Amino acid sequence: MKKKKTLIIIAAACALVLAAGLVWIYYELFPSAPVLVDNYTPKTNIICIDAGHGGDDPGAVNGERQEKDDNLNLALLVADCLEAKGYTVLLTRSDDTYLTLGDRCEIANDKNAAYFVSLHRNSAAETAKGVEIWISSKKTTAERRLAQTLMDALEEVGVQTNRGVKAGTQASADSDYAVNKNTDMPSCIVELGFISNAEDNRLYDKHLNEYAEAIAEAIAEVMK
Ligand SMILES: [Zn+2]
Repeated sequence: MKKKKTLIIIAAACALVLAAGLVWIYYELFPSAPVLVDNYTPKTNIICIDAGHGGDDPGAVNGERQEKDDNLNLALLVADCLEAKGYTVLLTRSDDTYLTLGDRCEIANDKNAAYFVSLHRNSAAETAKGVEIWISSKKTTAERRLAQTLMDALEEVGVQTNRGVKAGTQASADSDYAVNKNTDMPSCIVELGFISNAEDNRLYDKHLNEYAEAIAEAIAEVMK
C-alpha cells in the first residue's frame, strides 16, 4: 500500500514538472504575442496622402513660412514617389485649398484607401524640436507598424530628435485627432519637425526630397 502511494506521488510530481516544462516551452516559442491582434489586409492599392491645412487655414506660421505650404510641397513629392512605385495616390488636396477634417476623411473612406498619412509641421516654443507621429488611441497593430516604419525611415534620413510614435492626442491618451478617429483605414499624422525651430526648418528644406522618398519607401514596406 505504502509503495503504491509513493508511486502516485512520484507520478503526480512528474506530471507537474512536465506541465511546467510545456508552459515554459510555449512562452519560449511565443514570447510576445500581441495584445491586439490585427490582421489588416488593405482592400485597394490606393494610398491617401493628406497635406494638412490649406486655403484660409495656414496651420502653424513662422514669419513668412506657413505650414500649409510645407505640407503641400512634401505631399506632392510623396505622391510622385509612390506613383513611381506603382501605387495609386489619392491627395486630399493638390493645391492651396481649404478642406474640413471631415472632408479629408470622407475622401479616403469613399475610395477605400489602404492607408491614410497626414503630413504636418509642429509648432511650440523655439527650443522644441524633432519629429513625432500620432496614431489613434486604439493602437492597432497596423497603425503602429505604419507609424514606426515611417519614423524609422525619417530618422535614417536625419532628424534633430526622434520624439517617437504617440497614441491619442497631446491632451489625452484616450482621445483621438479627428483624422485618426474618422478614417476607416490605418492612419497616422506625421509632424515633420517644428516650423518654430530654425534647425528643423533647415533640415526640412535640405532633406525634402529624401523625406518624400523615405515616406514612400515606408508605405511600400507596409503594403507588402
Ligand atoms: Zn498642422
